[in-house]
Amino acid sequence: MSLIGAISLSMVLLGLLIGSFANVAVYRIPRGESLIKPRSHCVSCDRELSAFENVPVISWVLQKGRCRGCGVRISARYPVTELLTAVVFVYSLWLVGVHWTLAYVLIGDFVAIVASEIDLEVRRIPNLLVISGFGLCLVSMVVQFLSGDSSRQLDRFFIALIASSGALYAIALISRGGMGMGDVKLVGLLGAIAGLLGYPYVFILILGAFAFGSIFGIALIALKRADRKSAVPFGPFIGAGYIVSQLAYHFTPHLLGL
Ligand SMILES: [Zn+2]
Repeated sequence: MSLIGAISLSMVLLGLLIGSFANVAVYRIPRGESLIKPRSHCVSCDRELSAFENVPVISWVLQKGRCRGCGVRISARYPVTELLTAVVFVYSLWLVGVHWTLAYVLIGDFVAIVASEIDLEVRRIPNLLVISGFGLCLVSMVVQFLSGDSSRQLDRFFIALIASSGALYAIALISRGGMGMGDVKLVGLLGAIAGLLGYPYVFILILGAFAFGSIFGIALIALKRADRKSAVPFGPFIGAGYIVSQLAYHFTPHLLGL
């Protein structure tokens, strides 16, 4: 197997594992439950899951989407989240390449997926999730610094953080209630990470989020599923903008030399 093949396969496995953890985060964070304890259990019969039942995707398929104890249906959202995370991780690997910034981009991928799902479900983006994302980025910076890499990540990260969250905060004030502070914080984190690729990608992230949001909004109005005043969770569009910014980086790296 070629080197990039081996790295890609490892990334799929990492994505499935992190996707499995994303499911735990999506379920527990809005409920204020601990992410570590107790171990995973069936939400219907409370039986603790065996090691096999924790295997991503495969266990769900072999159990035909049902709990082995009580037979209750297990949502297809679980294996879909695991597969989605694996796909997005490999996508980032191929587009960003194997270097330090990939670590931050993967942290952003995880937060984007979890934030989108929670926002769709409960219409808010928990502070704990975004703060955890910042914490992981800071840990990466310390590890990167200790490993002898002296690239100036810290100033880039904070300049992009202030620019992206500032821009969205201004838009939130002007649009009056269309957007929440959770959206501002999420854009701050993902914008800071996009800034590590280059400042133009922060702009592409925000532009992409609004483009997707507008297309979706117009489609809903056209299908008469919503009117101009309907509230739509914005988190998934921010996540989509973040994904698109990686594509832009791949095809036009070092855009404008910034
Ligand atoms: Zn059960």
